[in-house]
Amino acid sequence: MMKVGVLGATGMVGQMYIKLLENHPWFQVNYIAASPRSAGKQYSEAVAGRWHMQTEIPRNVRELIVEDACNVEKAAGKCSFVFSALEMDKQAIRDLENKYAQNDVPVVSNASAHRWTEDVPMLIPEINHQHLDIIPMQKKNHGWKNGFVVVKPNCSLQSYLTPIYALEKANFKVSRMIVTTLQAVSGAGYPGVASLDIVDNVVPFIGGEEEKSEKEPLKILGKIENGKFMNNDSMKISAHCNRVSVHDGHTACVSFEFAERKPPKEEIVRIWREFRSLPQELKLPFAPEQPIIYREEEDRPQPRKDRDNEKGMAVTIGRLRECNVFDYRFVGLSHNTIRGAAGGGILNAELLKAKGYIG
Ligand code: NAP
Repeated sequence: MMKVGVLGATGMVGQMYIKLLENHPWFQVNYIAASPRSAGKQYSEAVAGRWHMQTEIPRNVRELIVEDACNVEKAAGKCSFVFSALEMDKQAIRDLENKYAQNDVPVVSNASAHRWTEDVPMLIPEINHQHLDIIPMQKKNHGWKNGFVVVKPNCSLQSYLTPIYALEKANFKVSRMIVTTLQAVSGAGYPGVASLDIVDNVVPFIGGEEEKSEKEPLKILGKIENGKFMNNDSMKISAHCNRVSVHDGHTACVSFEFAERKPPKEEIVRIWREFRSLPQELKLPFAPEQPIIYREEEDRPQPRKDRDNEKGMAVTIGRLRECNVFDYRFVGLSHNTIRGAAGGGILNAELLKAKGYIG
């Protein structure tokens, strides 16, 4: 078992890490850290009254003492790497994650702070696992011996990017898409959006989210050139991001156009159903056996019924049909705090271990 740490362990995503890592076959939580407000308390005390998971706090974590995440030296020696689920000023997160890497502790981050750092991979293991090849260059750039930083992208794009990538991989290039997301309240952390703002309501603005939904896919679909990432600018995305009164599960309504050839609908569904990638080949513990699930019913996917498919790690798709403006449209759904956050981070770490970057 590898000893691992969770930074931001008391927050919404951090708690999901604690829950999902209970009984993980490779990783055991040995170090937890959060803000000075929680530091020095037992974990159960630090999350008292704000434990949001449906299961009890795992026994092996309940009595661990929460450290101040800024005391980086405390982590070194206690854990082989850390998951970062911190919510702080971006520059402060960048500096802190670099400090962990500098102290020989690799960082698998959920925060957006490092997503545009030019030698940091922004990973969806089924799509751009080859982007990990930049890690030796990143270490060399900073003079880091064992540490490095890998990030995962924003949760909103998990609901549409894998199905779009599956089509690209099958040589059906997509040129343009319009995406309207309906995003769950858990995506805003706790306490998040005030209940009086969201009950009986839709909020048609989530700060920074449309820009992330439009731009992050271009890096993920890009390539490494001269030691840094070059975006794939061939795809244009226009996004509308809305906060809706759903607990978990981000929905995306997508209209898209192919660059050249337009396959028939049956072919698209076949490509989605047959799509597999490296995490499935390596049989990583958190890899969904069926990464893209296509449902035929006219009223699916729905957050409550479909977000937990493949333990929250699958993207569920439905309603593929012709579009009067572009070529086709569909609805995608993924679990934002599992595939879009902690589960996605764990899959990243499993891939890093399988490829020999950690452990
Ligand atoms: P959250 O519920 O607000 O939790 C924030 C965590 O950061 C808490 O553990 C908090 O500790 C800690 N923290 C705050 N200020 C700190 C400081 N000055 N020093 C050290 N630790 C500090 O946020 P979240 O929703 O879990 O999100 C965490 C990260 O994941 C964010 O960067 C977010 O953008 C990203 N993310 C979230 C989602 C999602 O679905 N929620 C999805 C993808 C990515 P205390 O409890 O002690 O205050």
